[in-house]
Amino acid sequence: MTQPDKTPVGFIGLGIMGRPMAGHILEGGHPLTVHNRTVSKTAELAARGAVVSGTPAEVAARSKIVITMLSDTPDVEQVVAGPQGVIAGIRPGSVVVDMSTISPKMERLLDERLRARDCALVDAPVSGGDVGARNGTLAIMAGGDRQAFERARPVLELMGRSITYCGPSGSGQLAKLCNQILISVTLLGVGEALVFARKSGLDPEVMIQAVSAGAAQSWQLTNLGPRIIERDFAPGFMVDLVQKDLRLVLETCAAAAAALPATALVHQLFASAQAHGSGREGTQSLARVLERMSGLEEGVV
Ligand code: NAP
Repeated sequence: MTQPDKTPVGFIGLGIMGRPMAGHILEGGHPLTVHNRTVSKTAELAARGAVVSGTPAEVAARSKIVITMLSDTPDVEQVVAGPQGVIAGIRPGSVVVDMSTISPKMERLLDERLRARDCALVDAPVSGGDVGARNGTLAIMAGGDRQAFERARPVLELMGRSITYCGPSGSGQLAKLCNQILISVTLLGVGEALVFARKSGLDPEVMIQAVSAGAAQSWQLTNLGPRIIERDFAPGFMVDLVQKDLRLVLETCAAAAAALPATALVHQLFASAQAHGSGREGTQSLARVLERMSGLEEGVV
């Protein structure tokens, strides 16, 4: 299935998101080299034709486009710039595309390091969750050198339905952080509306049905509202991960001298969810924090 005329791609970080994303690149006919810290996660892609490399440096040496999909800022720094990292093996003219959600400042630093090697870094975080990764329908928000972005675009199109160039290095991460502000503050409104309905004697399901057709409609309300009513707190997107992202928002906003009171509040409310053992639950468990504040008993809807 691999087509030798297609750009060789490397993929590092085969977690919940990375594994299906790398699979789409293989299906697109690109020669693919992969690396994952936990080697067992490479088996499925190896069986489908990917080459497995022992280090990020080896992946870079075999690829013209190197994609990383890792957990947090220090992980990307280590994998890209650490010993045996991507920079140690990269060939001039290559592009690194970091699709993790991490600090915009780190992306700019790594872009500088790569430019010194005649390469470039495109920051291209995603929205759409594991379902979007599996279906190849992610929303991808990209920042960095425009030409480097255009070189990576055909590969990004294999993973995403909407690909937006947002501006210079770090701009993709800034757009993603705006996304996280929007989903978190909207979810707080959903949780409060549900508490208000229950405390006032209005059927919460009827409330969702009534307002979803009007100006208050949102993905958070129509997707997470019913799960809150059904007491389904399984993760689509985990509280621990949204907290990492809101920390990045608050650090970045401090440096920009911006005041985001609602984001700071929702970050503290998610901290309460973590303190009650909900860190690995879905973000909809924010509703439980609000219910406790209003004396609503667990499980009573
Ligand atoms: P995940 O399943 O925990 O995968 C994380 C990957 O990073 C794994 O392959 C892990 O390797 C690797 N990794 C972590 N630290 C490392 C290190 N220091 N050195 C080498 N490898 C390291 O996480 P995920 O859900 O795929 O999320 C990945 C990124 O996408 C995160 O930045 C997240 O915020 C973002 N994101 C997630 C979602 C979602 O719904 N899950 C949606 C949008 C964006 P091991 O396998 O060895 O642990």
